[in-house]
Amino acid sequence: MARIARALECDIHLVPFHDERGCGYCLRFLREAPDVRDLSTSARMEELERWLLANRSVPEELFYSRIEALVGRRISPHELDDPDLLIQRAQRPGRPYDWDDW
Ligand SMILES: [Zn+2]
Repeated sequence: MARIARALECDIHLVPFHDERGCGYCLRFLREAPDVRDLSTSARMEELERWLLANRSVPEELFYSRIEALVGRRISPHELDDPDLLIQRAQRPGRPYDWDDW
């Protein structure tokens, strides 16, 4: 997984950032992020995919809380190792979570 210490450029905004606070544009987006309940499923998936496939550009706790909001439940860290599967699961919000993953 990309670690923030090495991710010196935001994949989303293509701007460099210099410290653990992360990309200023991403942080601003998160501060003003739309309520996920107002987003369509496809908009949610699009945003989820963007976060999962880009280098981490914001502090971990902000990253997790946005991913969890988009997925609609808590996630375990290792789920981030398989973004495709996580995106697939997030598209089926009615499906109970597979606890066998833990
Ligand atoms: Zn950014």
